[in-house]
Amino acid sequence: MDTDIAIARSVALRPIATVADDLGIPDAAIEPYGRYKAKIALDWLQTRKGGAQGRLILVTAINPTPAGEGKTTTSIGLADALRHTGRKAVLALREPSLGPCFGTKGGATGGGRAQVAPMEDINLHFTGDFHAITAAHNLLAAMIDNHIHWGNALQIDVRRVVWRRVLDMNDRALRDIVQSIGGVANGYPRESGFDITVASEVMAILCLANDLADMERRLGDIVVAYTRDRQPVTARDLKADGAMAVLLAEAIKPNLVQSLEGTPAFLHGGPFANIAHGCNSVIATRAALSLGEYVVTEAGFGADLGAEKFFDIKCRQAGLAPDAVVIVATARALKMNGGVAKADLAQENVEAVRRGAVNLVRHIENIRQFGVPAIVAINHFYTDSDAEIAAIVEAAAQHGSRAILCRHWAEGGAGAVELADAVAEICETHGGGFAPIYGDELSLFDKIDTVARRIYRAEHAVADPSVLAQLKRWEEAGYGHLPVCLAKTQYSFSTDPALLGAPTGHIVPVREVRLSAGAGFVVAICGEIMTMPGLPRVPAAEAIHLNDEGLIEGLF
Ligand code: ADP
Ligand code: MG
Repeated sequence: MDTDIAIARSVALRPIATVADDLGIPDAAIEPYGRYKAKIALDWLQTRKGGAQGRLILVTAINPTPAGEGKTTTSIGLADALRHTGRKAVLALREPSLGPCFGTKGGATGGGRAQVAPMEDINLHFTGDFHAITAAHNLLAAMIDNHIHWGNALQIDVRRVVWRRVLDMNDRALRDIVQSIGGVANGYPRESGFDITVASEVMAILCLANDLADMERRLGDIVVAYTRDRQPVTARDLKADGAMAVLLAEAIKPNLVQSLEGTPAFLHGGPFANIAHGCNSVIATRAALSLGEYVVTEAGFGADLGAEKFFDIKCRQAGLAPDAVVIVATARALKMNGGVAKADLAQENVEAVRRGAVNLVRHIENIRQFGVPAIVAINHFYTDSDAEIAAIVEAAAQHGSRAILCRHWAEGGAGAVELADAVAEICETHGGGFAPIYGDELSLFDKIDTVARRIYRAEHAVADPSVLAQLKRWEEAGYGHLPVCLAKTQYSFSTDPALLGAPTGHIVPVREVRLSAGAGFVVAICGEIMTMPGLPRVPAAEAIHLNDEGLIEGLF
């Protein structure tokens, strides 16, 4: 089997203007970035408002193995299959971050025959959106320290600056730093640190904004620090919102690319799925819905984290109503949930698949709680045995869901036709019942507790009095209506990454809470969450290079 990059390179892409033309986008609204990438003008997209809308399909997954279970690959395969069967499908996906590209996981353009392209461009600098977000974020950071340096008229408590800096790189050396050392001219020394760009609130804002004006308003709402008497200081107070919006004016336009089979794909934004909501921009999803009959989109991590946030944060804020959910399952991840060690995943073990299927079943039940029908896509790996596949189909059937074997990774859209037909059918027959799992009026802690109990199936959530007091202060300050964004490990329903399968009886401890007032949610950190990852012992970067022809090798 060829590598992903070799497969991608073997396919002749269509000029991006042709792809846009298929969607009915006029020339004047296409802003090309080279031959195969374009941004689409926001003012033209605005004119599509109120027109026909496509069906929205969310691709999510069971609790994953460290390599990922193929949500992006399956999203692309499903969209290609919908198009293969004569349906007008459009993808809406996240842009990759450089951190995982050079670290462990690799890029985020799918794999095998189900990829979006040009994969080198998309996985590296693409259209510069992440650089723009990094710059806008760090401009605000610079303006905070500058304000303090020149007399601190807003009386920012330098011990209570909550805005750190960001970089789109895995770099543990910058997690915790002492800044402004070196003398009077360099400001007031204090502890701070860097997060990866995808963890920036600016990223979440770009992804939840309805338009430029909404983005600018949200940027102004960012709480960057507190005064000595704990009054919030915002980006607006620092007069940073206008300049930040200027830096983001291009980045907010959605990017159009294509799959290897020519399916149009909007790739736009890419927030973390733990301390942020984990899905592509609202602008890109709306653009896709206004242009296609079926829109396939993805949420990060497993359904307990990604789908819950997609529903309770993105759909709630943007007024979107998903029609169907595809839960990606793999035999190897179910084996892992059934207690098999990572090194033994290639060996057949039907019993372990059966044991691990409790994880899949719980995700199916959870999705139903939101009133959306779910189908299981079994992403086929060549190590899977027929008996293992049969065990997954049986487990899903016992809980009223169809599980369909898909071979899009090996065969492209033709390998996922059965899934495409089933998804299209379920959209027609079962769609329309979506509702978030809690109301805006619930207290912030009750929202956290609701997700812990109903989605993670914990006994309840707990928090120290200091955390509860903080939540109360935010409620009093007018932030009580916001949804909550729980950050926990993606490997388990619980906060313990080793507790696989379908644990019950656990407690969800809220260690810390953070306000993302601009993005419009309150983050509850449950367990160890890394906002600046490190590189592994042997990073992917070591194998990435230019070959004799000047082509990139080693990206995956
Ligand atoms: P996710 O979106 O769930 O994180 P991806 O779709 O990015 O996962 O896939 C993770 C990795 O697994 C990619 O490198 C992809 O090429 C690979 N992969 C996905 N599906 C298959 C498959 N069926 N067989 C082999 N490799 C696969
Ligand atoms: Mg993915």
